[in-house]
Amino acid sequence: VRRGRADRSRGPGRTADGHEVKLLVNIGSAAELRGEEAAGAEGVGLFRTELLFLDRTTAPGIEEQSRAYAEVFAAVGGRPVVIRTLDAGADKPLPFLDQAGEPNPALGVRGLRIARRRPEGLRTQLHAIELAARRTGADVRVMAPMVATAAEAGEFATTARGAGLDTVGVMVEVPAAALRARRLLEKVDFLSVGTNDLSQYAFAADRQCGDLADLLDPWQPALLELIAGCATAGRTRGRPVGVCGEAAADPLLAVVLAGLGVGSLSMSPRALAPVRAALAAHSLADCERLAALALAADDAEQARAAVRREARPAP
Ligand code: PEP
Ligand code: MG
Repeated sequence: VRRGRADRSRGPGRTADGHEVKLLVNIGSAAELRGEEAAGAEGVGLFRTELLFLDRTTAPGIEEQSRAYAEVFAAVGGRPVVIRTLDAGADKPLPFLDQAGEPNPALGVRGLRIARRRPEGLRTQLHAIELAARRTGADVRVMAPMVATAAEAGEFATTARGAGLDTVGVMVEVPAAALRARRLLEKVDFLSVGTNDLSQYAFAADRQCGDLADLLDPWQPALLELIAGCATAGRTRGRPVGVCGEAAADPLLAVVLAGLGVGSLSMSPRALAPVRAALAAHSLADCERLAALALAADDAEQARAAVRREARPAP
């Protein structure tokens, strides 16, 4: 009995009737994997690689990158890890990219778009990732940020596979990509919805702008509808679709996401236990009913209130 109790704090999340939802963590360094909270995750759903590139006048080389990634892959300890290629741009400026002066940084050359000007930077990073994966024997998947079209997804997949990485995905952060999720899944193996940026672009609301917090609220039904479309595409194509933005860390919203058909939720380590408890309190049918209530609301506040009224307390 004691072992059963311990097992429930690790591995996949489960609804009350046993439907599995993978629970993963978002990290930026190996240090974030230490500690009891992260130990409960099934793997890493988002390894942000920006840290290594900050405050540098030149990009780190293949060997330096590979060592940094290998440190994280080793710390993951046999669990799968999704590493994201560099997500920089004028909104997250890096000195060596020399990008000052874009009038609309969030709409500019950021994320995968950097590779338009500097394809060698992406290739170096992918080779460093492959090298680190080979050195550690880790189960590594790679994904690109800020993908807008199926063609971009296809080009990224070709480049990543050419570097020897065989499980390739893209983030869905741009509404155009969400609308074409089925087509993206013809090119890549999985999708990961980044709700922070997907909100920003769907609502035309700068994610740094506090005055627009109500529009950026991840309970917005329009955001949920975009996620639902991605989840349906995943089911149609038989390929995994997860969420790795902040939405996944809200326990009640996690229940709604499960009801929309999302297969994995990636969050900061401290959110794992409350999300796990909320899922365990609801059957899959409950999750689907709550998701329908949220989709039927007119704004985020109404969606949250409707779901809160009907949700079951966590055990
Ligand atoms: C997101 O946009 O939801 C995301 C996970 O990426 P980041 O927060 O790093 O932009
Ligand atoms: Mg993002």
